[in-house]
Amino acid sequence: MSGPERPPASLVERAREILRRLRKLYPKARTALHYENAFQLLVATVLSAQTTDENVNRVTPILFERWPTPDALAEADPEEVEEVVYSTGYYRQKAKAIVALSRELVDRYGGEVPDDLDELVTLPGVGRKTASVVLAEAFGKPAIAVDTHVKRVANRLGLTTSKDPVKIEADLKALYPRRSWAGISMRFIRFGREYCTARRPRCWTCPLVDLCPHPDKTPAPR
Ligand code: SF4
Repeated sequence: MSGPERPPASLVERAREILRRLRKLYPKARTALHYENAFQLLVATVLSAQTTDENVNRVTPILFERWPTPDALAEADPEEVEEVVYSTGYYRQKAKAIVALSRELVDRYGGEVPDDLDELVTLPGVGRKTASVVLAEAFGKPAIAVDTHVKRVANRLGLTTSKDPVKIEADLKALYPRRSWAGISMRFIRFGREYCTARRPRCWTCPLVDLCPHPDKTPAPR
């Protein structure tokens, strides 16, 4: 996790200005995944690996209508679950994971989703990123989920120089006060999709251009 070094004051100030502007741009940044409770968000986030949130949102109403609770999904026939989640890709692993994690929730947590990172990551199919999404979104707990967008945006903006998600998370946590953490990921993700895209970022129209040290900015199209 984060080392003893404190980031320089100028970097902290720039980082906070970046977040101030992103808050203005996206006042209510939330996950695009549809969910009604922590269990549904946990399952939806596991299903969202390697696919779009829209694809997941098409599947989850059917999934939760048939198996609305951890108890129900824990007892489900994995092949039937595979059929329902098929269109999200990697359907075998995903079906196996969501049935197994439901069993664990029932066996170890009385059917409740734990609101603790170290416990969440022990569940099948749940990594640090998924756990952080659930903590920040469903529980409003201080957590920063680092996905490919957060990784790219944080690097281009010079908020980290690391490619390792755990280190990036630590670097961001060192730059922002705890109360800001839960609001960071979803704003970086949206900004990464709309402006700071992987290929040809829209630098010419970017609201953070004056704060961005990225050397390879895209010029305005002619
Ligand atoms: S100026 Fe370009 S590289 Fe920098 S944050 Fe904006 S879109 Fe991304």
